[in-house]
Amino acid sequence: MQVEVSRRKFLQGSVALSIIGGSSVGVTNLFASHDEHKAKGDIAVTTKTGTGEATEVATLCEMCVNKCAAVARVENGVVTKLNPNPMFPKSRNMLCPRGNAGIQALYDPDRLKYPMIRVGEKGEGKFKRVTWEEAYNAILNGTDKFPGMGKILEEEKDNRSSFLFCAGEGMAEHTFKTFFSAFGSSNWLNHASLCLQTVVSGYGVTIGAYPAVDLDNSEYIIMAGANRAEAIVTPDTMDAFKRTKGRGAKLICIDPRFTNTAAKADKWLAINPGTDLAFVLALTYVVLTEELYDKKYVAENFNGFEEYKNSVLSNKYTPEWAEKITAIKAKDIYQIARDFMAHAPKAVYYPGRRSTFANNDFQLRRAMAIFQGLGGGIDTKGGLIYGKKLKLGKHEGLEPLYARAEGRAVDKSKHPEEGHSGYSDCAVVSGGGSWIGWRNRFLEGRMPYNVRGMFCYKHNPMMNMPNVKKTAQMLKKMELVVTIDTMPSDTVMYADVVLPECTYLERTDPVKTFGGVEPSIAQRNKVVDPMFESKPVMEIMKGLTEKISKPLWEITKKYDEDIQEELADAIKPTIGENNETIAPTQTIEEAEATLYAEFDLTKPFEHSQEEVNRHMVESVYGEEAVKALNEHGVFYPDMDKYYKQISVNEHQYYPENKKSYSVNGGKPKKGKVECNLPNLASKGVDPMPIWRDEYNFKVEEGKFRLLTGRHAQFTQSGTSNNIVLRDLIMENYVWINRRVAKEKNIKFGDMIEVSSRIGKTRLKAYPTEKVGPKTIFFVHGFGEESEALTWAYKNGGNDNAVIEDVIEPVYGAASMHETNVEIRKV
Ligand code: SF4
Repeated sequence: MQVEVSRRKFLQGSVALSIIGGSSVGVTNLFASHDEHKAKGDIAVTTKTGTGEATEVATLCEMCVNKCAAVARVENGVVTKLNPNPMFPKSRNMLCPRGNAGIQALYDPDRLKYPMIRVGEKGEGKFKRVTWEEAYNAILNGTDKFPGMGKILEEEKDNRSSFLFCAGEGMAEHTFKTFFSAFGSSNWLNHASLCLQTVVSGYGVTIGAYPAVDLDNSEYIIMAGANRAEAIVTPDTMDAFKRTKGRGAKLICIDPRFTNTAAKADKWLAINPGTDLAFVLALTYVVLTEELYDKKYVAENFNGFEEYKNSVLSNKYTPEWAEKITAIKAKDIYQIARDFMAHAPKAVYYPGRRSTFANNDFQLRRAMAIFQGLGGGIDTKGGLIYGKKLKLGKHEGLEPLYARAEGRAVDKSKHPEEGHSGYSDCAVVSGGGSWIGWRNRFLEGRMPYNVRGMFCYKHNPMMNMPNVKKTAQMLKKMELVVTIDTMPSDTVMYADVVLPECTYLERTDPVKTFGGVEPSIAQRNKVVDPMFESKPVMEIMKGLTEKISKPLWEITKKYDEDIQEELADAIKPTIGENNETIAPTQTIEEAEATLYAEFDLTKPFEHSQEEVNRHMVESVYGEEAVKALNEHGVFYPDMDKYYKQISVNEHQYYPENKKSYSVNGGKPKKGKVECNLPNLASKGVDPMPIWRDEYNFKVEEGKFRLLTGRHAQFTQSGTSNNIVLRDLIMENYVWINRRVAKEKNIKFGDMIEVSSRIGKTRLKAYPTEKVGPKTIFFVHGFGEESEALTWAYKNGGNDNAVIEDVIEPVYGAASMHETNVEIRKV
């Protein structure tokens, strides 16, 4: 957002702030300060303590992906406090610091308030305020600055795939995806390839699903890479450390850094980054050679065991071999393998809840799942669990068939000379796609057809995807970018049309079923009405589709020969049994109206979210369930009988004999533990987990391997502007080994430039013994460039400005730890 003075100066000097350019409406201060809002009476910006008359509304937190249950206290229309909701089995009467700071998401003075359209150059951040009608009109018909979707679809002859749709995780993502399906594009990208893709897929193909963990009853836990005590302190994390450790379970932490999880562990072993696969293969070697595995379980539940055993033994993945690669002593590997199996099946190799960090991540997850299976700890108390999921009624969507819509924009040519059938960037294309692969193909002109427009919902690829410069180029090259968000993020700055979504406390979201040992259904209820002109995505989609549906249908009719044929047939006279001519039963208008109903984009958005939720719940569980969700935010059958408070902060949700520790008789979800998957070989992927020399990352002379991660007080870039959370972590610091820092004369707080082949960023130094001499670390989510973010603007360093766009070969996920960097005191 171009402003006359910098945000920081504004804060210091209270200088008036205004948007440059635009019409008389456009000069409105779109990003007014607290004081200005207060003066205008827009919002109550002072958070009051809860002392007066209040109403309480049960809702679900959206400050991270975990969706803990909360109860919002509302006084005179103002949310004054968020408390934990004790009734939800998933969050067990806890709300973390981020959850408490949710009030600031609602009252953040920087939030997007009105629809806007671009009036400056792309990326300049110059917008003017418009009405919703004008915004929808600009999306359909464009302005003098950008083409509308009508023009694009006309020129692309109704190829619906000339639009990309992308979304971040959230309960309303489904609503946006409904629009994507009805619109008919095949280009969908979500956050998976920047996050958990390889973890979910590795477990999925090996044991049938990505499992949860019964930490509560586990006796021995290997937590490798996953940093629950520091990166995501969800209520269940707290439970895990408090209860699991409290009753004597052993926790082994494997991490290149000394983290908070390491501090709480019984043993911390510093591992060379990216070598966990060698560690697991060596554990497996010990278990196989010493015959510590559960032979009965393996005989009944494994496919390809003998091949895998031969592979591990013949490759000699001994602890001594692994010590050279991982830096973990062989004697520790022997010990951990023996201890794990001694406690199995109540032992877990924690599956992880993290991004893809190294190129071997998919094979690592396969090896971890197989190792877990060797002890029989699958679908069982104290081990990995699938849990039960409660059913919900269906909500009708719309998926018309557009004859001119092309298939997903992929490049099918991975090693054709070797007979492999994978794609150019990766072997397999998942539902969420490969974000980096897609972006790079688009920039390099390797698309099979033109993609010219993009809808981006609750997603910030400028901050979340490695190589920020390339993402900016992509957004500039895209002719029409529509963003739907609550905050003026770095990505929003590149939009042509900005549609302000209301925050989670101002909307009811699609009701959701939460599987697990204690399954339940939960609903995010609207706490207060949307502020300014923001709307829930359901209403945004309703307004947009009412505007575009008919005009786009006209384009479809013009180019879709199947539709033309169908219409022509519908009004053709037919020949009767006695050879008589029978006049058509409908007019062309009637025939068209019938056909249009299948393409009517407004259909999925006819009902309010509350109505849709009621239908989905009432059709299965009746009126009582609807009432429970509206009043308590939570429902499960027999909740009234089972739920009770046991002590000050302990609740029973299900009696022990009703808990769903096992739903598949202790077996893998869809059959067997798959050790050997020959179909992977046809795509150029190792069918069994093996170690390859190329997995040894080479730290270049004078450089460092960059590690990144998450922090519990921040949710990626989504909470970077939250001033309440800034109290807990002001900015990110770069961890540098203390001896290295001394050699370079770097002291705590010195400003450091971190640079790689693709870019640079700046942040302050934190010399420490908690990281090795060949690595540096800083947390993700800082260093935004949007001047419209008062507190996040240029605060700390942006990891994705330096992380190279290395693509993990199986699913095309971003490999976050494959970059050499230099550091320099500035
Ligand atoms: S873990 Fe914290 S931020 Fe995440 S949903 Fe729960 S309370 Fe909200």
